[in-house]
Amino acid sequence: MLKPPYLIVIGTVAIDELSTPFGVEQKVFGGSASYFSYAASFFTKVGVVAVVGKDFPEEYRQVLEERDIDLSHLEVLPGKTFHWKGKYETDMNSAITLQTDLNVLLDFKPKIHYSKTPEFVFLANIDPDLQLEVLDQVHGSSLKFVACDTMNFWIKNKCDAVKKVLGRVHAVFMNDGEARQLTGEVNLIKAAQYIHHLGPEYVIIKKGEHGALLYSHEGVFIYPAYPLETVFDPTGAGDSFAGGVMGYLAAARKVNLKTMKTAIAYGSIVASFTVEKFGLERLREVKRENFDKRLEVLKKICKI
Ligand code: AMP
Repeated sequence: MLKPPYLIVIGTVAIDELSTPFGVEQKVFGGSASYFSYAASFFTKVGVVAVVGKDFPEEYRQVLEERDIDLSHLEVLPGKTFHWKGKYETDMNSAITLQTDLNVLLDFKPKIHYSKTPEFVFLANIDPDLQLEVLDQVHGSSLKFVACDTMNFWIKNKCDAVKKVLGRVHAVFMNDGEARQLTGEVNLIKAAQYIHHLGPEYVIIKKGEHGALLYSHEGVFIYPAYPLETVFDPTGAGDSFAGGVMGYLAAARKVNLKTMKTAIAYGSIVASFTVEKFGLERLREVKRENFDKRLEVLKKICKI
């Protein structure tokens, strides 16, 4: 049987259609698991649990293969790949969904067939019922840390399932709007407290260009975003942020406040590269050293 990578992700592998103030692209390789795994692969070996349709281009698969991402759990089903059409107007922090075609996601039954449970598991943005199906398959002593993400689409359509997932994970990543939508709280600290009570020890609330907030039993911490003059396409920022965080934690093999803080800094740096071009284009150009250089800049900025 197949040896598991340190980190696996279940999420979407998608064909996106994007419109930003800087341009329109009819066909971009996207999806929460694609951005996440590509970002995490700079830090550790990562595997993707996902589904695509027969229309999924071979060159997209090669993009993931170029980072040695384990695709043994990328299923191909008859039908079309998950498709998302979104646009950004003046507020580049929030995407407007124009169309979501679930396509093969409707028939997806994730089955994890590694020889044992991977140590780190990420439930990226996808149907929360599928996240629960994966949670049912990943248990045992080798499992160290499980985190999840979600979005407005699922909070609106499957709120109870989202809450069930939150009751079973160590950490959650959400953006500010989603945290407010889920909890009904306007104040983000109150929203984070509410989510913390639902289960996760670490609640990470992303605030786009304004950075991120971490809430844990040890208190509230805030992190800046890397200051960028040009944000070209914010798609995938949240997923690659989570990929940087989880990739760093899986490589460190331990989670505590100290590793979490560095992980969040790397997460925002990876995301800062993602948004500089369409899709995964920019991340495909960078090397791990580029992240370390930006980390030095962030450290200088944060010195009080
Ligand atoms: P983000 O990091 O939040 O910008 O995520 C962007 C990616 O999420 C896009 O590439 C989309 O394909 C994917 N996506 C959009 N809507 C959904 C959804 N309802 N469930 C899962 N993935 C989605």
